[in-house]
Amino acid sequence: MIEIVPIPAFEDNYIWLIRNGTDAVAVDPGDADPVADYLQLHRLRLNAILLTHHHADHTGGAAELRRRFDAPVYGPRREAISSVTHPAREGDLIDLPSLEAAFQVLDVPGHTAGHIAYYGINSLFCGDALFACGCGRLFEGSAQQMHASLAKFSALPDDTKVYCAHEYTLENIRFARVVESGNAALVEREHNEREAISQGRPTLPSSIGLEKLTNPFLRCGEPAVMAAASRFAGHPLAEPAEVFAAIRQWRDQV
Ligand code: ZN
Ligand code: FE
Repeated sequence: MIEIVPIPAFEDNYIWLIRNGTDAVAVDPGDADPVADYLQLHRLRLNAILLTHHHADHTGGAAELRRRFDAPVYGPRREAISSVTHPAREGDLIDLPSLEAAFQVLDVPGHTAGHIAYYGINSLFCGDALFACGCGRLFEGSAQQMHASLAKFSALPDDTKVYCAHEYTLENIRFARVVESGNAALVEREHNEREAISQGRPTLPSSIGLEKLTNPFLRCGEPAVMAAASRFAGHPLAEPAEVFAAIRQWRDQV
């Protein structure tokens, strides 16, 4: 049976470990030690490493894990990451028979220029592209690109579990409530996520359905979000991509 467990790293990163029987795959291991410790404790074999983008908090442990476990490293074809052995891009299917799992690769530029995500086993590993109630900062891509990337996520089935790489949820909800003060699903979500944090549990995984109800960056066509973005911009915005650009800019200022 497949299990997906968070390995906390640094301040607020999650390294997701997908395990089945004696086999495991690590997603975005920014640090090798906590992953190696977990594998040893649970007597697991590392079958592969999946990287979403080049930032050090996602890739820093990949070279050492590759060396220690002789595991292939999948990563974005359009980014220069020295530990990657298997460059991947949209349209590729990564088959991991020992885990009874396969992942489709999605190109989701915006946070970085070559950012990819992995979709399979009813789960999405989206790195820093999509966060619970938020999305990644635009370091290398345009708002237009990120908006198109998020549209790919929105098109996935509502019950898809969303495994983001950071615990940013409560901060993101605070901003989402400023954008959409009348969203009842958001109020309920804030209550639930506060409870999770106070009990020491991650707020993840989320789901595509919940994000579509509460994440302002996936709600750029909703009248309330459009109105708030227009207020921020100081003039009426009608295009969802413009609405996205405005709320991304607004988020950077709070
Ligand atoms: Zn990043
Ligand atoms: Fe990150």
